[in-house]
Amino acid sequence: MPAQSLDRLQRKRIGRALREDIQCEGAGYHLDSIFFSIIGKEEQMYLVNADLDSIECSCPDFEHRGEVLLCKHICWLLLRAGLSPEDLLELRGIPGRREVELLMRMGSRLC
Ligand SMILES: [Zn+2]
Repeated sequence: MPAQSLDRLQRKRIGRALREDIQCEGAGYHLDSIFFSIIGKEEQMYLVNADLDSIECSCPDFEHRGEVLLCKHICWLLLRAGLSPEDLLELRGIPGRREVELLMRMGSRLC
């Protein structure tokens, strides 16, 4: 998919993360990883797991597009952790060690 279309799709997800009523129900550490329970639309709960240098989500969007786009749950967490929408676009769908460390440091304060 051309980079321009990916940018557009990523902007949509960032927009949803900013607008929708998304909440964090809890966070916990397990060995070298941290997980967050995120509740989105329709009260559906998803788990976001940050581990070493990757961040994964259990939502269907991440399952289908997670290799090239950040789902709205990951966007929401990273925005709360202090990244800007432009920072998220620059990740090109691939968060790295810096973002994982940010989530680890913030932990349950993001909830
Ligand atoms: Zn997700």
